[in-house]
Amino acid sequence: MQEVDAIVIGAGFAGLRALHTLRGQGKKVLVLEASDGLGGVWYHNQYPGARCDVESYDYSYSFSPELEQEWRWSERYATQPEILRYINHVADRFDLRKDILLNARMTEARYDEQAARWMITAADGRQWSARYFVMCVGQLSTTKAPDYPGQSSFKGRVIHSAVWPRKETIDFNGKRVAIIGTGSSGMQMTPVIARLAAHLTVFQRTPNFSVPASNAPVSDEEDRQVKAHYRERRERAWNSPTGLGFAVNRQSALEVSPEEREKVYEAAWHRLGFGFALAYHDILLNAEANETAAEFIRRKIASVIDRPELRQKLVPRGHHFAARRPSVDSGYFQAFNRDNVELADIKESPIVEFTPEGIRTTAKHHAFDIVIFATGFDAFTGSLFKPAIVGRGGISLREKWADGPVTQLGVSVSDFPNMLIVVGPGSPSLLSNVMVSIEEQIDWLAALIKKMDEQGVVEFEAEPEAERAWVAHVNERARQTLYLTTDSYYNGAEVKGKPRVFMPYTGGVRGYRRHLSECAEQGYSGFALRKTPAARAAQSEAPQAA
Ligand code: NAP
Repeated sequence: MQEVDAIVIGAGFAGLRALHTLRGQGKKVLVLEASDGLGGVWYHNQYPGARCDVESYDYSYSFSPELEQEWRWSERYATQPEILRYINHVADRFDLRKDILLNARMTEARYDEQAARWMITAADGRQWSARYFVMCVGQLSTTKAPDYPGQSSFKGRVIHSAVWPRKETIDFNGKRVAIIGTGSSGMQMTPVIARLAAHLTVFQRTPNFSVPASNAPVSDEEDRQVKAHYRERRERAWNSPTGLGFAVNRQSALEVSPEEREKVYEAAWHRLGFGFALAYHDILLNAEANETAAEFIRRKIASVIDRPELRQKLVPRGHHFAARRPSVDSGYFQAFNRDNVELADIKESPIVEFTPEGIRTTAKHHAFDIVIFATGFDAFTGSLFKPAIVGRGGISLREKWADGPVTQLGVSVSDFPNMLIVVGPGSPSLLSNVMVSIEEQIDWLAALIKKMDEQGVVEFEAEPEAERAWVAHVNERARQTLYLTTDSYYNGAEVKGKPRVFMPYTGGVRGYRRHLSECAEQGYSGFALRKTPAARAAQSEAPQAA
């Protein structure tokens, strides 16, 4: 069995950063990646139209000023291929590949209490032992697909947006295509596939809020400007509520005149993309304030849809703006003005079954060659529950979290010493620019390991009391927002039977950062730091048998 200092699971943005940083501290690090390439979600989500909805300059690593200066983003919102090129460039630039094992799916991680080490097993039986176990598996990586009657009888092709075929180009030419799901993935691919296919039917269950991406090429002058002041831009992101590089408006949407509000929303609509939700500070705190934004967006959406009956169906209602993840689109609603694009409202006329030729709803039968499931993920916990992660006393993470995730500071779990979950439940995670959250959590872990080394500590473990306090704080912050007013993958509603617990931390990137820093400054309060593994300490204290 090979021994390493740290084993990292997943070779996406988080896994590569963990490898680079911990290796830089002199640790022997190994990354296990289940698939045959680097990039995590950006490797798998190769559907047409996939792009990031955080600006490229912010959705990138900040740890290397040289990397920041040498990489040239071509668009304000990078496409999936460009992001994948960036990831591979980083892997080469920092010589990361030599410590990454591809096609190595971790199936079990078991904590050896005597040795204070994790025993890691891969699907093919290979094993490793590591002091630190770092889960970088993403929050949106375990896919979820419907299970309609007759689904397996469909003779055409079925593709999930997040398991997009990588070694072939799907030919949509002349094809009748279905997209089921109108979250970010469905909305991004709709206008692109609409242009390629003979006919496209979009199956919508819940109309989603969306703001325009306002994407554009990055000019040389813009690139120079950003690079000349990159540190300031990063500082703004680190000290912002969401890790995006612009400030939230401290005003209430309700304290300004309707005319003033209209001006602010109009400007945000054309520039801010996802950041529209920050146009006023109380959009996610107050239903009345939220409604001013929602009403503006509904008007904007309605204005680009030609057919009145479609306007009625596509305009989002029934939930507050941004209480579920809104999209940032590039021509989604306009695509429905095309003659070859049809909307199937499955709230009104649900899907009854799949047939060999297509899909039957209560309204009619649709014939298809290709059906795309853009139906999302088992968010936050899906990928953490796939392998068997077994901590102290033989308890599995799945058992530990049977009623929902419990963490100290969103990074660590009692009974699972020396394990770090990056951008997991209880941290800003999907409510933040995830790059900012990834980097700050990994830097926090690196500092903790450094301190452990200096003090001869071999085991860190979250204290149950601190964990309870953190979960109470996460819930308290969530209750102050509108997030709890609707079903979403933030609160486990996306998977039947999943505990209904609000998972991400709504206290913002800046607030979260303060908690991480205070914890470190107070000698890692809320964590037990042990020089001898707890099991061995307990054993040596136990009365000896006569
Ligand atoms: P999603 O937001 O969870 O959307 C899934 C869609 O599928 C929803 O419209 C959902 O309807 C529908 N759906 C789920 N199960 C269904 C079923 N059985 N029958 C019919 N419809 C069903 O998933 P996603 O679009 O893949 O996006 C997930 C997240 O990934 C995004 O929120 C975002 O965080 C991230 N993402 C980011 C980008 C980007 O950076 N640009 C791009 C893509 C994705 P209901 O709403 O009624 O449940």
